[in-house]
Amino acid sequence: MASIFSRIVAGEIPSHKVAENDEFFAFLDINPVAVGHTLVIPKQEIDYIFDIDDAKLGRMMAFAKRVARAQEKAITCKRVGLAVMGLEVPHAHIHLVPITKESDMYFGGKKLEMTQAELADVAAKIRAAFE
Ligand code: AMP
Repeated sequence: MASIFSRIVAGEIPSHKVAENDEFFAFLDINPVAVGHTLVIPKQEIDYIFDIDDAKLGRMMAFAKRVARAQEKAITCKRVGLAVMGLEVPHAHIHLVPITKESDMYFGGKKLEMTQAELADVAAKIRAAFE
């Protein structure tokens, strides 16, 4: 069965898209730890990020870097933090989180409560800054 993230790429499940190319897709995390928290995924369904071949993983990181540059422009932050866990969704993904302090990247606590309209607004801002 297709992963929830493959279903997002296919447009079967809605998402707040931030950026896309032929290989990768970026969209807002539905339970953000900070404003602008974005996930970058390969369109090809691969569970574990370290099973991705070197060349593709390099391209994924370069794509994530472009997303991070857009987040830096769109969201007030000191820098963009990067994390990979993958314990919940078995489809490789990089978390990109705009942060101003270390605790902004705490994944074990209460998540931000943002409305769909607020998420749409944040996604539009990052999308507009994506080059
Ligand atoms: P992990 O697999 O531990 O890296 O966590 C999976 C992440 O995916 C969590 O931060 C979830 O909030 C996020 N997530 C799960 N389902 C969706 C969805 N439908 N849209 C956006 N983000 C999601």
